[in-house]
Amino acid sequence: MHADALPVLEAAPEGRPNLLGLTRPALAILLDRIGVGRTHALRVFRGLHALRLPLDAIPDLGRHAAVIAAHTRRPPMRIAEARQSPDGTEKLVFALADGARVEGVLIPMKGDRVTLCVSSQVGCAMACRFCATGTMGLTRGLDAGEIVAQVHAATARVAAAGGRLRNIVFMGMGEPLHHYPATRDAVRILRDDGGPCFKARHITVSTVGVVPKMRQFARDFGGRVQLALSLHAGTDATREAIIPLAKRYGMEALRRACLDHPLPGSRKLMIEYVVLPGVNDGPDEIDALAAWCRDLPCLVNLIPFNPFAGAPYRAPTADEVLRVATQLRARKVPHSVRWPRGRSVAGACGQLALESTG
Ligand code: SF4
Repeated sequence: MHADALPVLEAAPEGRPNLLGLTRPALAILLDRIGVGRTHALRVFRGLHALRLPLDAIPDLGRHAAVIAAHTRRPPMRIAEARQSPDGTEKLVFALADGARVEGVLIPMKGDRVTLCVSSQVGCAMACRFCATGTMGLTRGLDAGEIVAQVHAATARVAAAGGRLRNIVFMGMGEPLHHYPATRDAVRILRDDGGPCFKARHITVSTVGVVPKMRQFARDFGGRVQLALSLHAGTDATREAIIPLAKRYGMEALRRACLDHPLPGSRKLMIEYVVLPGVNDGPDEIDALAAWCRDLPCLVNLIPFNPFAGAPYRAPTADEVLRVATQLRARKVPHSVRWPRGRSVAGACGQLALESTG
């Protein structure tokens, strides 16, 4: 994909809105407009998002339920397939109302806590060369309700297994900032203390570097919701070779956006770096990365490349990953390694591409 061909996905969906995708203020406006009255907004919102009830099961709503149903949609979403990896990671395939499918991943953490990786688009337009989703192209963006519905379905699944969904990361299929209004509204709904009530610091939105939307995200959430930048290179030349969007937003523009990004307290910006042997792991590249990170409160998260069919790269050995870590340590760049989880079910980073057919 040429960077200039980036499709615009800003248009509001036509027709009746997806009920699950309305923020509480938007729901209040709608209830006023259809004669139900905004006084019911909290009850409806809590019923939908905290109790995860169908509209007609929300207590004390009476005849209003039918009025709301007539003015909104609530497209069904189901988990069509679940595949568990021996390491406890579980890949979920969500079936959407129009037959489209997206993938999510449940990742067990310490104790009973679980992280969900959600999708924001069916496929992706960004065509990053190290990512299976990037080979699919973009079918469409999800609306906020379809993003929230993934969280609701996963919450129920995790609770049924005795766990607690605590973290949401927008690192599944799609570039969340390419489809920003839906991502923004989904985050607002997920944070709402009348609904799912996820803590802002437990939500991470990952971007491959859509600079204007990174700045918009900073304005909308003031740095409270985590931002992760998929950087994956230290130089423009390397980045452009693996990420088409890099031709539009270069390293310097990304660095300026990151320096301007508000970070409360000791919060750090997450910098994702997929290790591609022979491509972005040499000393010159790591020198450039260290220079790029200078004065930026950040943590570089090294991710060993997870191979997929037809991938132009190979997976690094553990030694190759540790060599990058050693180079970063020598240059005093804070870093960590995210060793792969879920590889056996193609649920590791960069592997989501709907190979399943169930
Ligand atoms: S890495 Fe993210 S932005 Fe790039 S192709 Fe994959 S899903 Fe899209």
